[in-house]
Amino acid sequence: MPDIYFLNGQFVSLENARVSINDRGFQFGDGIYEVIRTYHGRIFHLDEHLKRFEKSAREIDLPLPFSRPEMKKAIEEACLKSGYPMAKIYVQMTRGEAERSHAFPAGIKPTFIMTVLKLSPFSPALKASGIEMITTEDLRWGRCDIKSLNLLPNVLAQQKAKKAGVYEALMVRNGKVTEGSISNFFMVKNEAVATPPLSAFILPGVTRDLVLDIARSLKMKVIEEDIPAEEIYRADEVFLSGTTIEIAPVIKIDGKPISNGRPGAITQTLMKEFEAIALRE
Ligand code: PLP
Repeated sequence: MPDIYFLNGQFVSLENARVSINDRGFQFGDGIYEVIRTYHGRIFHLDEHLKRFEKSAREIDLPLPFSRPEMKKAIEEACLKSGYPMAKIYVQMTRGEAERSHAFPAGIKPTFIMTVLKLSPFSPALKASGIEMITTEDLRWGRCDIKSLNLLPNVLAQQKAKKAGVYEALMVRNGKVTEGSISNFFMVKNEAVATPPLSAFILPGVTRDLVLDIARSLKMKVIEEDIPAEEIYRADEVFLSGTTIEIAPVIKIDGKPISNGRPGAITQTLMKEFEAIALRE
């Protein structure tokens, strides 16, 4: 089964998937992206991802050269061609290629790329045991709600986690938790599921939305409020959400166990329901 590479409307080999050194994505991080996945060949929440992609494009004044149905058709065709039952789809659009100058050049054509690769699922063993994470200062800009290519602070945060031998770095801005370097943050306290509210400082995660829907449908109490960083160590349960990690229980933060140091009951209920939805859709 092949890996798929798609560049500006054409399926190409990896060797021919080349963009100019003058591309603004490469020089300025001037572009946006999405990571989408499939379950058994079915693309999960494609409309939600494309809606966010369109919003990111609008927010950075990047006119999309194709409609949602055209984009869907290309992604569906790429997935079929790959044949991977569990695939990771990466789509990216940059402002395009032009001689380097900060303001938008006139008449520039966007560069669109897509890859469809085999997804390595998040380790079932880690999912069962729970993961550890550290906290770190949130060094990102003021528009983290845009899924832009400027990921250097996220890269540095992930590297810090890796060096510490843990799975994720939870970012903290002005004493409040924002999100992980690749995930949204949740905690459970007194049976209520709490997560930071949508703002310019977090990505509106597609999985975050689904977790909130599931929690509400199970009649759980849901709180979208700022979470002071010092409160997380006193949580009854902590978990993260994201397209590739789905729902992952967190059992230790900064070396301190959360509650009894095991995945909590509410987290496990949400995980089960999430799995049922993912396999059903
Ligand atoms: N927050 C950040 C910073 C991310 O990079 C991601 C996913 O990559 C998420 C949250 C989770 O978003 P989603 O559930 O849409 O994958």
